Amino acid sequence: MKRIAIIGGGISGLSAAFALEQRRVAGAALEYVLFESGPRLGGVLLTECLDDCMVEAGPDSFLTEKPWAADLCRQLGLGDQLIGSSDAERRTYILTKGRLVPMPDGLMFMVPTQILPTVFSPLFPFNTKLRIAREWFFKPRLGPDETVASFVERHYGAKLVDRLVDPLLAGVYGGAASELSAPAVLPRFIEMERNYGSLTRALLAARRKAPPQQDRRPIFTSLKKGMQQLPDALVARLDSSSQRPNTPVRELQPTSHGWTVSASVGSGFFDAVVVAIPAPAAAALLETAGAGLASELRGIPYSSSVTVTLGYGQEVRRSLPPGFGFLVPRSEGKRMLASTFVHNKFPHRAPADRALLRCFVGGSRDEPVLDLPEAEILRIVGGELRQILGITAEPRFARVYRWRAAMAQYVVGHLDRLQRIEGLRRQLPGLCLAGNAYRGIGVPDCVRSGQEAADQALAAVGLAPSHPEVGASVVASEER
Ligand SMILES: Cc1cc2nc3c(=O)[nH]c(=O)nc-3n(C[C@H](O)[C@H](O)[C@H](O)COP(=O)(O)OP(=O)(O)OC[C@H]3O[C@@H](n4cnc5c(N)ncnc54)[C@H](O)[C@@H]3O)c2cc1C
Repeated sequence: MKRIAIIGGGISGLSAAFALEQRRVAGAALEYVLFESGPRLGGVLLTECLDDCMVEAGPDSFLTEKPWAADLCRQLGLGDQLIGSSDAERRTYILTKGRLVPMPDGLMFMVPTQILPTVFSPLFPFNTKLRIAREWFFKPRLGPDETVASFVERHYGAKLVDRLVDPLLAGVYGGAASELSAPAVLPRFIEMERNYGSLTRALLAARRKAPPQQDRRPIFTSLKKGMQQLPDALVARLDSSSQRPNTPVRELQPTSHGWTVSASVGSGFFDAVVVAIPAPAAAALLETAGAGLASELRGIPYSSSVTVTLGYGQEVRRSLPPGFGFLVPRSEGKRMLASTFVHNKFPHRAPADRALLRCFVGGSRDEPVLDLPEAEILRIVGGELRQILGITAEPRFARVYRWRAAMAQYVVGHLDRLQRIEGLRRQLPGLCLAGNAYRGIGVPDCVRSGQEAADQALAAVGLAPSHPEVGASVVASEER
């Protein structure tokens, strides 16, 4: 009987555990144990029902074009629970000199693909519009690792970074365009530059080639009763005797033919381990096993964030502009990074006479907000909503969630670091890594990382993989 330990009960660890469970029920001589330090499994996937509203504490959805999370949902029998974002309502605003200005139609992530909406948008000054036009004639090139800010500035100018890209990345990564690595977080755009030079030309060419049904898919996918349906379904399918909540792992020590896992309740021997926790926490467990690896893992920075969800009544709902919400560029001098109008983004989230707003503060530029008392965070968010949206009503309810060091930051050098980590990991047989620290922070990437780590662990103990179709890793991802 082979024994595999999984450390971390977030979506990465749960996906790994489910992959192993499938092999176990298929008859593999296999036992696994899932260690989670907290009382519940699911990590940052947490949904609460408050005042008849579905409140997401962490992720509210995932990108439809990345298939791994939706595929897993279907495998778990949740296919009929998948819902798409209400894209007909899709409009995002950028706070510009205190006013909400809609993002022009035809923007694909950050690349303008329609001339007229871009030309008439008050979002960009005349100079930026000229830069956008000139970009069409860019020649293919392959440059060194650089920040997203420098990559986008080369193509479209600094204003597009300030007004669009920096706020988008702050919303997605809690990070800054001036620090995140373009090849690590925007690999598709690097590929476009390499093949076409101009990102605008590349995107238009890709769109012409795409099958027509692809355009009709919703951008975001979620679950009817909230994202927590996914971890709940995973937990229900795992062997209950294999689950160890409230059991933090303290150390991992390689032995001559496996690993000793030391947890709060004692030590045990395993043939392989899947470490699916944030990189600095993984570093702490591996300090004695591999100081070099631990130091590389510790070098991956993380940002923290706070999500604040506020429920309002009919009056506020009527007063809000249509759309999914707004982003706040740093130059606007606010603490809020973004706000989502949840009731518009997805069906099934709030009764028709309610407004449900989810606001983000924190991120790599505002870590101190994490330590403020809840009342102070609510005062800041309430004040900024009053300035931006004119909301003076008191919320029916408010909920603050703090996520400390939850989002890995793929800064310049990340891809080189991953190669060094992979080299060092291979020197420790039976050690597998999963999670948002490596090749994508979104839920689908974390699902895939867990499945791949499970397959590595199975291979390490001489068993066949559970997911023959999971292929070579792709690197990180734009948006999520
Ligand atoms: C506020 C927020 C909003 C987000 N929004 C989106 C979104 O809309 N779409 C999207 O695709 N992605 C989103 N993400 C990103 C995505 O949700 C995460 O990257 C992903 O869920 C991380 O999963 P994980 O399992 O790797 O890590 P986690 O969820 O952090 O789980 C790690 C688990 O390991 C446990 N652990 C830590 N140390 C130990 C130890 N020593 N022993 C045992 N257990 C330990 C922790 O308690 C935790 O439960 C968001 C993230 C946050 C924080």
